[in-house]
Amino acid sequence: MDEFALIRRYFAGLTAPAADVVLGVGDDCALLRVPPDAELAVTTDTLIAGRHFPTATEPYDIGWKALAVNLSDLAAMGAHPRWFTLCVTLETANQHWLEGFSRGLRDLALREGVSLVGGDTTRGPLSITITAMGHVPRGSGLRRDRAQIGDAVCVTGTLGDAALALRALGVPTLDPSLRQRLDRPEPRVAAGRVMRDLAHAAIDLSDGLAGDLSHLLSASGVGAVIDLDALPMSDAFASRAGPLRHELQTAGGDDYELCVCLPSARVEAARAQLDIPLTVIGQITTEPGLRFVDASGATIALPPHGYRHFE
Ligand code: ADP
Ligand code: MG
Repeated sequence: MDEFALIRRYFAGLTAPAADVVLGVGDDCALLRVPPDAELAVTTDTLIAGRHFPTATEPYDIGWKALAVNLSDLAAMGAHPRWFTLCVTLETANQHWLEGFSRGLRDLALREGVSLVGGDTTRGPLSITITAMGHVPRGSGLRRDRAQIGDAVCVTGTLGDAALALRALGVPTLDPSLRQRLDRPEPRVAAGRVMRDLAHAAIDLSDGLAGDLSHLLSASGVGAVIDLDALPMSDAFASRAGPLRHELQTAGGDDYELCVCLPSARVEAARAQLDIPLTVIGQITTEPGLRFVDASGATIALPPHGYRHFE
């Protein structure tokens, strides 16, 4: 199967025609229709085998995750995801792999209503790059540099599950729900759009709360105090994490939850519109930097940041 047959078979018809795709896969460019009075939101993320997913990951999950991590970035801007491109580098045109990969990708794409509109296909060590695009009403994008003193700092869902699964890879007694969080992250698209109207700032948690929240704080020129004992846990995580709890929840990565800053008076209004938990974990402060405390208010020292390449 050559490159073009492969594209035709697995990718050209992956998603259904859409009114805002004037021209999709097959020409030199895709032509996309952005609504008037909207801004285009664009993000890209690469997944490398062995670095962003364990080499033994199911092809289905690789397809799912490659798109999910990009949709998570759009979610964090409050954007409405619409389109994506796909660049795949493959060692071989393994049909079993392509079959699983394209199914995982398609299932999430169809569920979220996004169209695959182009890409590139090359040979080499396995890597996947997706560029996802969406839109926000003009001027309404949920940025990371707008947090205000006194805002409540909140997170969606639970933290640490994926990091625990990664740490316990291959442990047969591990709760499958934890592995699920690692392999099939759920981009918080609906929550992001709710937060666009209520929050001052947001970031998605891909590299661990400590690192990602620090980016938001420096961009906003503020600090935060975070209560480690308030960080939300799943039941499976709570029964298994033990003394690793705080480390996994702050530095683990792969959560793909949203961390948002909003006036505390709006937290209930946000919760009323969400179908996932929203937990207040701390507050934005004038004093710069990120300070972790425990339930008694005592400062706790933790590793300063999450995952970084080239370190
Ligand atoms: P070009 O030489 O013009 O860059 P290519 O030969 O790379 O075009 O690709 C042919 C068409 O197939 C283009 O429309 C391109 O966007 C699309 N395409 C290539 N690889 C993929 C892929 N993995 N997924 C979706 N579309 C793809
Ligand atoms: Mg090309």
